[in-house]
Amino acid sequence: MKLVVDLTRCQGYGQCAYAAPETFRMHGGEALMYDPNPGDEQRDKVVRAVAACPVRAIVADAAADGRARADGWSGRIVIVGASLAGLRAANALRSEGFDGPLTIIGDEPYEPYDRVPLSKQVLTGSVSPMGTVFPFTGGLDAEPVLGHPAVGLDRRNRRVRLANGEQVEYDRLLIATGARAEPWPDAQEAALDGVGTVRGRNDAAQLRERLAAGPGRVLVIGAGFIGSEVASACRDLGLPVTVVERGPTPLAGALGATLGRIAARMQHEAGVDLRCGVAVAALEGDGGGRLRRARLSDGAVLDVDLAVAALGSRRNVEWLEGSGLAAGRWGVTCDAGCRAFDVNGVVTDDVFVAGDVARFPSPVYGYQLLAVEHWGNAIDQAEIAAHNMIAGGPDRWAHLALPVFWSTQFGTQVKSVGVPTCADEVVITQGSVDDRQFVAAYGRHGRMTAAVTFDHGMWLEFYGRLIEQAAPFPPRFAVVDQSPGRSQVLPAQIPRARPAQATVVLTGYQPSDRRAVLVPGG
Ligand SMILES: Cc1cc2nc3c(=O)[nH]c(=O)nc-3n(C[C@H](O)[C@H](O)[C@H](O)COP(=O)(O)OP(=O)(O)OC[C@H]3O[C@@H](n4cnc5c(N)ncnc54)[C@H](O)[C@@H]3O)c2cc1C
Ligand code: SF4
Repeated sequence: MKLVVDLTRCQGYGQCAYAAPETFRMHGGEALMYDPNPGDEQRDKVVRAVAACPVRAIVADAAADGRARADGWSGRIVIVGASLAGLRAANALRSEGFDGPLTIIGDEPYEPYDRVPLSKQVLTGSVSPMGTVFPFTGGLDAEPVLGHPAVGLDRRNRRVRLANGEQVEYDRLLIATGARAEPWPDAQEAALDGVGTVRGRNDAAQLRERLAAGPGRVLVIGAGFIGSEVASACRDLGLPVTVVERGPTPLAGALGATLGRIAARMQHEAGVDLRCGVAVAALEGDGGGRLRRARLSDGAVLDVDLAVAALGSRRNVEWLEGSGLAAGRWGVTCDAGCRAFDVNGVVTDDVFVAGDVARFPSPVYGYQLLAVEHWGNAIDQAEIAAHNMIAGGPDRWAHLALPVFWSTQFGTQVKSVGVPTCADEVVITQGSVDDRQFVAAYGRHGRMTAAVTFDHGMWLEFYGRLIEQAAPFPPRFAVVDQSPGRSQVLPAQIPRARPAQATVVLTGYQPSDRRAVLVPGG
């Protein structure tokens, strides 16, 4: 059987680990590790775990989907991108009652799989790279066109062109082509044996094989979430690892350097050779094409036989060139109903966008366009896009979910809600930094804009509600494990903070009743 856990919802209580210990395991205080592909003999226990989870975070192929059905439009739907967003949209279309023809086009030859374990359990060897196939693939009654990239879009005639020369007609199209890893910028150096990235199953399988062979030293270039997770997996395996980060601390780009310093401490304590404020200037081979050493911008030379470039990502938009859509480096721009904009900024009514490739307006953050690479966003947006593809005008929903993210590294579950990069100040509100169990609230212009938890994920929803209600910053409420240093508001030290304005609050819980409401005078 197959399962996946929505770790943004998971609060780390461990009921699943109690009900099905062979499948679910707690790592450190709150981080949940699980086997996405447990044997069928585990089915009963897993079903019990699904039922026991208080926040319904576990989706298994045995679990029923209780969504309401919506009547509406019928025609031919084509989804390009057969991964989390594409598959979730297909699933939502069917569970909302869409029974027309549905085609899912993917360039990878595999059944859709989850990328989250690729930088975690797959690298430590506790999950096979082939064992992360999504549970929601069965019974979709969709035509899969796998292993065939889309190379063009003819909007006038409503056709997707495939690399094999075929054309697929649609009445409504969903673009869910995600992103790919930013490669190491020097092509010759990137081609050295031992230099790689982690985005897909093949990358992770190759990296796992090399880690299992016991390299002398691993170099991780970039200490964002993926780089930090790879370093964490190396330390779990007892391997020497150097992390080189151009910025002042790990995670500084996402959380700011103030929290980044806590992440740096985590890395030092785990035995990572962390070098911040330095760049990798060159990767060199041994003459036979194998990676041997790295030269750093401070003059240091490292002997390494494995290098993982964790430099961020590029949106997969090249196939949309000439389509007339507003598609570029930052993704495909769409409205809050997931409808794509054309280059003039006019909204289309037959092309929708979801997941990592989408760039969407966020009312909470002054209607700025956000592009986020978060599992939870791909799910939320895919469900909204699917609904809107078949719903009539007034019944359409808006994608108003706050971005939520988690990362599992060094035995700690780091989670965030909102957009920390829209803040300029941060304050520890609960828990203890020394124990590495705390909540940090972020704010700007007197309004709370985000919260980050380290092993304190149960509070995330509470802070999410405060952010939606434009709660004041610094926070004024009293909480149970209030941090003694709470009154100390610090600069968040976000490298390029985005502006944010308190113009709206969000109301409602379900997508059908979620609304943005303007704050008078906001
Ligand atoms: C290693 C790793 C670890 C992660 N860990 C976390 C985590 O801990 N927490 C978290 O919140 N998020 C995490 N994420 C992010 C999360 O996995 C993504 O947000 C999610 O995969 C986005 O789904 P998507 O469907 O939008 O895009 P993708 O998963 O990128 O899928 C897009 C699909 O479209 C295909 N495609 C691209 N171009 C074409 C084309 N022209 N024709 C046909 N098909 C095409 C791609 O090959 C791919 O299969 C992680 C991501 C990675 C890579
Ligand atoms: S919240 Fe659910 S998935 Fe997370 S540990 Fe608890 S029971 Fe398991």
